[in-house]
Amino acid sequence: MLSEQLKRFREPQLARQMLDKVKKSLQELQAHLGYKATFMEFCGTHTAAFSRTGLREELKEDVNLLSGPGCPVCVTADSHIDQVIAYSQLPNVIITTYGDMVKVPGTEKTLQEQKACGSDVRIVYSSLEALEIAKKNSNRPVIFIGVGFETTTPTAAMTLRKAMEEGVNNFYLYSLHKATAPALQALFSTNLPNIDGILLPGHVAIITGRRQWDVITKDYNLQGTIAGFEALDLLIALEDLCSRIQNSSKQVGNAYGRAVQEEGNIIARQAMDHLFELRDGPWRGLGTISQSVYKLKKEYKAYDAEEVFPLPSIPQGKPSPCLCGEILKGLKKPFECPLFAHRCNPIRPQGPCMVSHEGTCAIYYKYERTV
Ligand code: SF4
Ligand code: SF4
Repeated sequence: MLSEQLKRFREPQLARQMLDKVKKSLQELQAHLGYKATFMEFCGTHTAAFSRTGLREELKEDVNLLSGPGCPVCVTADSHIDQVIAYSQLPNVIITTYGDMVKVPGTEKTLQEQKACGSDVRIVYSSLEALEIAKKNSNRPVIFIGVGFETTTPTAAMTLRKAMEEGVNNFYLYSLHKATAPALQALFSTNLPNIDGILLPGHVAIITGRRQWDVITKDYNLQGTIAGFEALDLLIALEDLCSRIQNSSKQVGNAYGRAVQEEGNIIARQAMDHLFELRDGPWRGLGTISQSVYKLKKEYKAYDAEEVFPLPSIPQGKPSPCLCGEILKGLKKPFECPLFAHRCNPIRPQGPCMVSHEGTCAIYYKYERTV
């Protein structure tokens, strides 16, 4: 049952009043800038929320909304998908991972197709479920493929701690966990579309806190606001962003104050910092980003799949016509991909953005297509 507080953020009448206010603010912003503003939503769930609530359509005359790299499955590089498939071919190994990961195409095939060839690949809903599989199969190595931003990295850390405390020694992590702030920094340091403001990811900010995002204003002179995921959350965030741009604010806003605090979740961050360190790593569309991937510290190498099962590193695959890399940078929209809704659809996805429910192509396929 929805909590009373959450229901208020879905109140249609309130949303309608707020929508009128936001439209007016966007029009004032247009007069101030001399052109229609472009905002990026970093987070895939914001992309979905704008489409699901109809706000993208309602606001299309007043603001250009672009999607960003905020889907952890989508930003996983081809070479890492190929690496996961290589792990699944090791003798006796059980691979555990989230459902979306098994459908993402690598260079030759998906993990799902490899499963059909005989590999033991199991879908789990949490890292704890993967640990349970390890406990029930103590004579077999169980590799958990960890994917996600700061939202899921602390749970992977807590699970590993539990494995250590319980003496489970056949459980390994292949960490594809990524840090969000370096991705935004990489994005803003390259040739990007002109963005006037950014809606920042609410779930991530619950862990990281508001303060870490001030770097966007400080280093890139860009305005940002942390947003929640209901219609009113989005509208309040848009209103806040308009006012920050007009007033050249010196810090990012927090329009998700009911969940996000200034310093974030310190316990979760400590759990991450205890086990993980940031290293350079590849992102789809963004190339190798310095200090952007959470890897286990050397002292925990007994639980690190990359240390225990070293595989020759797999080079980036052959170029594919999929435009996910461009879509993740806000340079293209799904309709611009010639494969969209033809060769590429949720049944036979040709790229990760059509797989994940946070993926821009899957969202546009579901909500924005006219048939
Ligand atoms: S984990 Fe949450 S905040 Fe991060 S991209 Fe996904 S939906 Fe957005
Ligand atoms: S429609 Fe498919 S092939 Fe095209 S960019 Fe999206 S995921 Fe890639």
